[in-house]
Amino acid sequence: MSFSEPDPRVRVADEPRPTDVPQMHPPVPAQAAACAVCLTGSEVSRQDQGALSPQPKPGVEAGRFRTRTIAKVVRATTVAQVTAAVRAAGTDGSALHPVSTGLNWGLGSRSPVLDGATVLDLSGLDRIRESDIRRGYAIVEPGVTQGRLAAHLAGTSRIVNLTGSSQHTSVIGGLLERGVGLQRGRTDDLAGLELVLADGTTTRTGWWPGTAGTVVRPHGRGPSLNHLFTQSSWAVVTAAVVRLLPRPAAVRVLPMLLDEQRPERGVDTLREWTEKGLICPNAKIYDPVAARTYGTPGRYLAHVCLAGDQDLVRAATEIITGRLGDTKAGLTLGPEAAADRWVQQAYAGEADPHDTLFLRKTGHCARCIDRARGLLLFLPIVPFEGTAVRRAAALTRECLVGATTPPGITMNVLDSDALDHVVTLGFPPENPTAVRDAHRTLDRLHDAFAREGFTVYRTDIDHPLTPVGTGPEAVLRDRLERALDPHGVLARGRH
Ligand SMILES: Cc1cc2nc3c(=O)[nH]c(=O)nc-3n(C[C@H](O)[C@H](O)[C@H](O)COP(=O)(O)OP(=O)(O)OC[C@H]3O[C@@H](n4cnc5c(N)ncnc54)[C@H](O)[C@@H]3O)c2cc1C
Repeated sequence: MSFSEPDPRVRVADEPRPTDVPQMHPPVPAQAAACAVCLTGSEVSRQDQGALSPQPKPGVEAGRFRTRTIAKVVRATTVAQVTAAVRAAGTDGSALHPVSTGLNWGLGSRSPVLDGATVLDLSGLDRIRESDIRRGYAIVEPGVTQGRLAAHLAGTSRIVNLTGSSQHTSVIGGLLERGVGLQRGRTDDLAGLELVLADGTTTRTGWWPGTAGTVVRPHGRGPSLNHLFTQSSWAVVTAAVVRLLPRPAAVRVLPMLLDEQRPERGVDTLREWTEKGLICPNAKIYDPVAARTYGTPGRYLAHVCLAGDQDLVRAATEIITGRLGDTKAGLTLGPEAAADRWVQQAYAGEADPHDTLFLRKTGHCARCIDRARGLLLFLPIVPFEGTAVRRAAALTRECLVGATTPPGITMNVLDSDALDHVVTLGFPPENPTAVRDAHRTLDRLHDAFAREGFTVYRTDIDHPLTPVGTGPEAVLRDRLERALDPHGVLARGRH
């Protein structure tokens, strides 16, 4: 289904209201829709281009991790089929590894951690079951992509919290990974989950319409269960209630260059502004490699998003640009092109069916990246302090093995204390030495950052998170796991 087509199965609970955000973006040029690999036709036939297959062949994924043997791939398009697959897995001994769109590039894509699993592909379970603009939620299935939900909300007074990844990635996949959106952490978007448990029963957690009052309150009353099932492999998620944000009347993303000699000064200023509430806790900082995407190579770049009432955005822009005049801030206004219309549009929650920013970042479209690009992600949390950012950059350089090129580092502000670092290692996937060196670099990053106390919060299939020791938390997790899935019907995951 194309992004612009309304989904006939969707019930919109109240009439979409026109937004006062001007639709300022002209149509995208057609050639932006595909990457060089698609355009040459060398990898994907023309017929394949309509539907995005989660992965071309089992085992081919961007990280070039050791290929896991997969018993089979089961595709489910209804909840009843998911239930049947779970019940079958309970008897045939091959654990199920559910994926939504399976585009978890750099962490293993759709590969399981252990050999012998059955991949349960839910990309065809793809209905937007309901959206309620007034109350601010949508009920989506695993195959619903963030681009499709954004397009569905076009012209309404609500937006979805888009991430910086491809528009073809799953809303539920991002939630379950506890990803980071442009507005806030994806965990804040989760209101409720529909689950198929390991014994084949169906249940729900969190808030659902018709339960616990009319106001969307993710924690409801009593024990709050949603996050037992994020970053866990204790159930198959067949739908989620996703909270929608009010569409801001105005959005302005200011590009700022950090002091060339001492970028940590700019980091500290951004922290101070975040602490004091001058800016929202969602700025992004790009190191000089990552900043290439935005046309400012060699410099640290920040994107500071001001959004809300038009007068407020205007006033905040004046205050902030005024403060940039102070050389102690360590920040100067960057070129307008460093936060161009595609950046502004993403923060405004607008769909881009051509995935322009993603193409720019990776050089490939979502369809080709697993085949054509070597990519590993390393995701530690680092204190939001200039000295810590400098230390993380130095550690990263020290870990590089062989000819591995310096990675791009994108830093997402989570709050005034924490910066999520996304370290992206690129390598030529056809060169075995480069692949080996990139993986050795990744191992070294895991060791070095752990020693520094900068722990990873999302990981890949070669570095599953292990419970911390044998303390009470590990015991509790073990008891929960045995209660929910005593026979290992669901494949043990990265978490
Ligand atoms: C250039 C680039 C930029 C990126 N930017 C961002 C960003 O800004 N923010 C961000 O958060 N991420 C970002 N990413 C990471 C990545 O693209 C996303 O996390 C992506 O959404 C995950 O793929 P998916 O949605 O297809 O999820 P999937 O691969 O389908 O799922 C991810 C994992 O969740 C579990 N899972 C999925 N579905 C189910 C289910 N239905 N039931 C039970 N378990 C399930 C499985 O363990 C699965 O492996 C970026 C990646 C790249 C390459």
